[in-house]
Amino acid sequence: FVDANVVQLNTVKSKFQALVILYDLTEGRRVERMQLDFVRNVSHELKTPVTAITGFAETLLAGAAEEPATQKQFLQIIYDESTRLTALIQDILALSHLDRKDQSQDQLVNVYELVQANLELMQQKIRQKQLHVSVDISKTLQIKISKMKFNQILKNLIANGITYNKSNGSLVITAQVEKEQIRMHIVDSGLGIPSDLQSRIFERFYRVDQARATHKSGTGLGLAIASELTVSLEGELTVDSQLGVGSEFILKLPIV
Ligand code: ADP
Repeated sequence: FVDANVVQLNTVKSKFQALVILYDLTEGRRVERMQLDFVRNVSHELKTPVTAITGFAETLLAGAAEEPATQKQFLQIIYDESTRLTALIQDILALSHLDRKDQSQDQLVNVYELVQANLELMQQKIRQKQLHVSVDISKTLQIKISKMKFNQILKNLIANGITYNKSNGSLVITAQVEKEQIRMHIVDSGLGIPSDLQSRIFERFYRVDQARATHKSGTGLGLAIASELTVSLEGELTVDSQLGVGSEFILKLPIV
C-alpha cells in the first residue's frame, strides 16, 4: 500500500516537474522571441537614419554642394537624422540598463525640485512654444526612491507634454500623497491620442500617426521606458486623453 502511494507520488512529481520544465521552455522561448523582435526593430530603426545620412552625404560629395540652397537643405537633413540617431542610441541604452536586474539605490528625492530641474532643461522648447507651465507640488514633498529611474520617467512624460502640445498651450504638473503612494498628473492641452491607440503608446517603438512630423527626432521608446521603469518600481502609469483636446498621464508610485 505504502509502495503504491510512493509510486503514485513519484508519478505526480515527475509530471509536475515535466510541466514546470515545459513552462520554463515556453517562457524562455517567449523572452527569446521578444529579444529577437527587439533586435530586429532596433536594427531597422538605426538603419533608417544611417541610410539617409550616407545617401545625402554622398550626393553632396558628388557635386550637390555647389548649389547653395540644395547644400543647406541636405545638410539640414543630415543634421536632423544625426539628432534622431543620438536620441535612438540614448533610448536603447536606457532600455538595456532597464533589462539589468541591479536596482539603483533609493534616496530621498524632493519631487518639486526634480520637476523644476527637468523644466529648466526644457526651457528653450517651452519658450519656443510659448507654453503656460504650472507646477502644483509642495516644496517640501520628499519621497524615497531610485532618483535615476524617477527622473527618467518624469523627463519622458514632461518632454512629451511639451513636444505634443500646441503653441500657447498649457502644461500642468501636480503631485499628491495619498495613503502609501504618490500620485502625479502631467496634463497637457496638446494633440491628444485617439482612444483606440491609448494602450499602444506604451509599446516599444510605437508612435501614433507617423505623419505627426512635427517631432522628427522621436524614437517611440520614451513611454515604453517610462512605463517599464514604473513597473520596476511597482507603480502604475496610465493615460487619459482626448483627440484634439489634450492628454493626462497619471503616475502612481509606492513611497514606503
Ligand atoms: P516618441 O515621443 O519618441 O515618439 P513615446 O514613446 O514617448 O515616443 O510616445 C509614443 C507616441 O505616443 C508618440 O509618438 C506620440 O504619438 C504619442 N504621445 C506620447 N505622449 C503624448 C502626449 N502627451 N500627447 C499626445 N501624444 C502623445
